[in-house]
Amino acid sequence: MDAEEFRRAGHAVVDWIADYWATLGQRPVTSSDPPGTITAALPAGPPVHGEPVDAVLADLDRVITPGLTHWQHPGFFGYFPANTSGPSVLGDLVSSGLGVQGMLWATGPACTELETVMLDWLAGLLGLPERFHSAGRGGGVIQDSASSATLVATLVALHRASGGRWRDVGVDRRYRAYTSTQGHSSIEKAARIAGLGDDGVRPIEVDPDTLAMRPEALRAAIRADLAAGEVPTIVVATVGTTSTTAVDPLPAIGAICAEYGIWLHVDAAYAGAAAVCPELRWAHDGLEYADSYCFDPHKWLLTGFDCDAFWVADSAELVGALTVMPEFLRNAATESGAVVDYRDWQVPLGRRFRALKLWFVLRWYGVEGLRAHIRSGVALAARFAGHVLADDRFELAAPHPFSLVCFRLRPGDENDVRSGDEINAALLARVNGTGRVHLTHTRVAGRYTLRLAVGSPQTTGRHVDEAWDLLSATADALLTEPPPTTGRPPTTERPPTG
Ligand SMILES: *Cc1c(COP(=O)(O)O)cnc(C)c1O
Repeated sequence: MDAEEFRRAGHAVVDWIADYWATLGQRPVTSSDPPGTITAALPAGPPVHGEPVDAVLADLDRVITPGLTHWQHPGFFGYFPANTSGPSVLGDLVSSGLGVQGMLWATGPACTELETVMLDWLAGLLGLPERFHSAGRGGGVIQDSASSATLVATLVALHRASGGRWRDVGVDRRYRAYTSTQGHSSIEKAARIAGLGDDGVRPIEVDPDTLAMRPEALRAAIRADLAAGEVPTIVVATVGTTSTTAVDPLPAIGAICAEYGIWLHVDAAYAGAAAVCPELRWAHDGLEYADSYCFDPHKWLLTGFDCDAFWVADSAELVGALTVMPEFLRNAATESGAVVDYRDWQVPLGRRFRALKLWFVLRWYGVEGLRAHIRSGVALAARFAGHVLADDRFELAAPHPFSLVCFRLRPGDENDVRSGDEINAALLARVNGTGRVHLTHTRVAGRYTLRLAVGSPQTTGRHVDEAWDLLSATADALLTEPPPTTGRPPTTERPPTG
């Protein structure tokens, strides 16, 4: 593909994306096709002779988009948002065009320096503690995901706890990680990968009302482990848990970590973005205790996946944990000590020029544009919560400080957890089955609970109201239908026999 062919095809692809965004709201949010549909529609092998890009675009429309869940759809309320934006896509396109590998400063100086500056900009934007700024001992780096940030934090914590004796870490199963029962599954995964073993993670109980970690329970677990000769290594506190956006009390947790010299990592994957708004910074109170912190601009800050922003208070500790220097990477800039080599700040060696998409996003929206995006998400969630509160058939299952609302239909009999779970699961399946919205679920205090997370840039008050109307009408139908008789649900279809 020469430059002229690229220019023509590139314009067509940008047009295709713009048309996709413009028509998103008219599509079903998710596909209802059974597994294997897309595979069956694809040829068994590549074409023998090359095809034009137009042919691929036609198949995008015919095969791929009908088989997708549309995360940018205004009716997408599942999980947490993974929003993107025009400037993010364009920044990524430039990154792809440059094809730079930013593993060392020397392999792309601007790739490294723009990233350092962007992470400083972001730290200022969120009002993060000074210790994370690159002007001092700290600094930031882009990881692919919050899961990688937690893995890297776990590795540095192990480096600190073992005094750098990696030889012993793999065989010595005494290192312990702590997180609340609401901590993300990536914490357990990181502990497995880092060799902490099956008993490596201690789940700490939460306050039943706030679902935030109980600091006294953390202290008790640390003391019990110390008494048993184990090595408390890392505490992962969460700002905005995945289930309900609970916020762990960082000041109390931080004081405990400081007292025992334990690494504190703060995982704010989704909710950290809220701190661009000064009125939402309370969630970061106590962050000055943290050794490391991360949030995902790829969740709620208009930057397409993948982009996790990760900071450490002391980058020398991080580099000490992860650096391995083979001869073929030796270079004068690294030896001078005057540059940052981001390969030492992450698990892989190679890295994309991801700072470009952040640069495009931060410059296009500006501080006020990003604040407006967060505020609109918080206001839309509050609007939805207002509908829930005004209807006594429903209840809120947790506080909603950000843009996630956890709610459920009250069961006829409050103590009948099973029928409450069944009716809420049926409600979710039916509203999602319409293709107009997509919500997901969690369990709060053991009970099946629906989650509505606002975050797509296209979602407006009208979409939230329509989602509520659909939930309300579906609840009407479910509550007035006769309950299924005992045993198998009634069915007209018989399983095939013989
Ligand atoms: C989403 C989420 C993660 C994982 O995020 P990735 O960036 O996809 O790895 C981790 N922690 C919390 C609290 C999350 O909400």
